[in-house]
Amino acid sequence: MNTIDQFRIKTNSQVNLGKIEADFRGDYDGEEAAIEVQEKLNQRLSELQALMYAENMHVLLVVLQAMDGGGKDGTIRHVMEAWNPQSCNVVGFKVPTAEELAHDYLWRIHKATPRKGQITVFNRSHYEDVLVVRVHNLVPRDVWSRRYNEINNFERGLANSGTTIVKFFLHIDKEEQLRRFGDRLYEPDKQWKISEADYTEREYWDDYQQAYEEALSKCSFSYAPWYVIPANQKWFRNLAISQILMETMESWKMKFPEPSVDLVEMRKKYHSEVAEEQGLAVAVEAVVNVKQAKGKKGKKKGKRKNKSS
Ligand code: AMP
Ligand code: MG
Repeated sequence: MNTIDQFRIKTNSQVNLGKIEADFRGDYDGEEAAIEVQEKLNQRLSELQALMYAENMHVLLVVLQAMDGGGKDGTIRHVMEAWNPQSCNVVGFKVPTAEELAHDYLWRIHKATPRKGQITVFNRSHYEDVLVVRVHNLVPRDVWSRRYNEINNFERGLANSGTTIVKFFLHIDKEEQLRRFGDRLYEPDKQWKISEADYTEREYWDDYQQAYEEALSKCSFSYAPWYVIPANQKWFRNLAISQILMETMESWKMKFPEPSVDLVEMRKKYHSEVAEEQGLAVAVEAVVNVKQAKGKKGKKKGKRKNKSS
């Protein structure tokens, strides 16, 4: 499966979310079949992140957007467990504070972008400024409608400065959303998430889908592609995202940097004493082994002698 092409939104295409199957599972029969593949992906993602940190050259920004209950938190938990927290962070964007509202809408976003060698995952993002803001008329139409271009220019600037941007829309359908809200009512570790607003926002489902379709259609470029990930099946969502991240990072063809010191010289200078001691120890061990082996042979011979007599 070439996941990168399969789920990527082509530049200037018209996205129709109603035609994209949220329940898609690829060639997999179910979660069981995917477990081993996911483990291998995590292993590779972990290696790639170690390379990225060592090279200190690439920058990765992962943007996660979804309807409520779409699985942003679960994606973060499962996909990012492959990564060392030392060079990876998550930034969530909530209703803007008074301080944030006193600035332009990209101010809080730009401040949170990653540095070289680092991965940052945005849990919601500047796209909220053409989603919830549009759906609820928080600013006039002429203000939000300019933002697609502004966002494209902002992302272009980040990409020109060396940031790889990968954007995921976790696509669930309306029934799956209600099912997940329903499950939360019975799961003690999820009950805290329930809010009445989640249910009342469902009335705006179509408006949100339309706002998403426009953002996905207008803001997907080779330097900052959108991927629509079928996300009804959590395991498939994780698999597809891991695969795309892996393919993205592999395309960088990273290598561990050459050591900055002469290794032979360093061994000689700082480790020769230990090496000698170890060498001696190995020699002593070898003698002991030979002696023991001879001893065993002798015993065996002795036994055989006894038996035959
Ligand atoms: P959650 O992700 O469930 O913690 O909720 C965060 C809330 O903040 C969501 O309801 C978002 O719609 C809202 N939010 C995020 N960014 C903005 C924004 N720029 N303007 C208004 N609301 C926002
Ligand atoms: Mg929420």
